[in-house]
Amino acid sequence: MSVIDNEKYTAISPAEFFLRYREIAGFANPARALYQAVRELVENALDATDAHGILPSIKVVIRKADPIQDFYKVTVEDNGIGLPPHIVPEAFGRVLFSSKYVLRQTRGMFGLGVKVAALYAQMTTGKPIEVITSKPNLKFIYYFKLRIDVHKNEPVVLEKGSWRKTRNWHGTVVSLTLEGDWSRARSKILEYIARTAVATPYANIVLVTPDNEIVYYERVVNKLPKPPKEVKPHPHGIDLETLKKIINSTSYKTVYDLLVKNFQSIGEVTAKAVLKQAEIPSSINPKKLGETELLRLVETMKNYKKYKPPKADALSPLSSEIIVAGLKRMYNPEFVEAVTRRPSTYHGYPFIVEVGIAYGGNTPLSDKDKPVLLRYANKIPLLYDEGSDVITSVVKEDIAWSNYLVELPAPILVLVHICSTKVPFKGVGKESIADVPEVRREVKLGILEVARRLRRYLAKKIKEEEIRKKIVSIAKYIPEVVRALTIISDGPGVSREELEEKLVNIIVARTGLSSTDIKRVIDSVEIGA
Ligand code: ADP
Ligand code: MG
Repeated sequence: MSVIDNEKYTAISPAEFFLRYREIAGFANPARALYQAVRELVENALDATDAHGILPSIKVVIRKADPIQDFYKVTVEDNGIGLPPHIVPEAFGRVLFSSKYVLRQTRGMFGLGVKVAALYAQMTTGKPIEVITSKPNLKFIYYFKLRIDVHKNEPVVLEKGSWRKTRNWHGTVVSLTLEGDWSRARSKILEYIARTAVATPYANIVLVTPDNEIVYYERVVNKLPKPPKEVKPHPHGIDLETLKKIINSTSYKTVYDLLVKNFQSIGEVTAKAVLKQAEIPSSINPKKLGETELLRLVETMKNYKKYKPPKADALSPLSSEIIVAGLKRMYNPEFVEAVTRRPSTYHGYPFIVEVGIAYGGNTPLSDKDKPVLLRYANKIPLLYDEGSDVITSVVKEDIAWSNYLVELPAPILVLVHICSTKVPFKGVGKESIADVPEVRREVKLGILEVARRLRRYLAKKIKEEEIRKKIVSIAKYIPEVVRALTIISDGPGVSREELEEKLVNIIVARTGLSSTDIKRVIDSVEIGA
């Protein structure tokens, strides 16, 4: 038997990799691609505003770009911090280039989004990406047209220019022309924008569709979520490569200083204890540590039990006030409440779970097995892969809704927001969250906390309804009884009003119902009679 051995070995660039495997980044087909492109641009726009203390104003325009082919031009404008001009080519033209590879909560995290969208655009229409940007303190507005050299993973600037600002505008406008399927993407895009608006009631968001529909969500609160701060890594989340990277870039001359200064939650006492346990002298230069010592240090750092938990400063939860405002604006519910849980951690990363529940009003009717779900991760709405998300599983399996007086299907909606410096997404398309036990527990506790308030509300409502029924059934006889009694007593004696008053008092004494409630019912019965 002859062996066929004609293996060819080559390397591909990150750009080529994501062009080939674009579906893992959400660009599987023209409908999904159009949706994903809008999403990536909107998320960059929001990151450039709310994380920097700017109330966002975002405009999204989708236009048909060719009379025959299904080409669409997507333009997203924001009033954010803009980009320095020399960064623009890299930021939009080099896959895996980002300002967000730091420990700080942002919507973007992979340094991929806008580039995969640009690659998809380039591949389907050949059109370059266009960027207009200015930072608040710059006098000029800069303009770029770029494409990505796929093989080198490098930006190619096709055109650039600048002009002097006439007003103090700052922000960024990004345009992409790509093959899309508007009719199939339409409902998802509208839903995406609506759900974004629920989580960002502090933003003005306008969407202009290819059908010339204008969807406008006007800002309803002027409060921004607390902006995230960049933090140092927590030792529980460390690994060998990360430690090496920190050692390479540190200027500290002893491993002791490295631990104290480059990590959070390590003070002088802890540093000594960790180094002792790892059998590494405090004064040694970290750059001199060999592979076995490094491994020992990493293992000890990871397993040491007595650190303070990671700080939540890097996180930017929405706040219950913002969640309630967003839900009220969208659904005008009869009941709405929200909680922000205390920070918690998994694998050395801090995370916070927030939960809002809306009931009644215009809240859509749920399925039989669970309330309507609005899932968010780092303020991004998640629309796809609901079935495989840990939030779905908690809502279906861990919560007996009937214990909370909710008989499904019901007009009930549960919003869950998970924010973290590292959301455990199942893929780079950022659509569903993995079942991490610590996260699952917090999601459950958060939902239960709000569900208990809902139960209190519903219990009160049910009781009031029962009382009302009781009053109705008793009070409807009063006019009749009064009439009969006046006929019997026949004469001046007691007036009709006095009789009614007496009867009402008897009912109050016997039932504990309020006399005003009873009189209201009597009046309605008399009017109805
Ligand atoms: P990511 O968002 O994951 O960092 P992207 O490829 O989407 O990756 O964006 C790359 C970088 O370009 C961002 O990290 C950010 O610094 C910059 N950027 C993109 N869009 C904007 C924008 N609208 N305003 C300011 N900066 C932006
Ligand atoms: Mg991004």
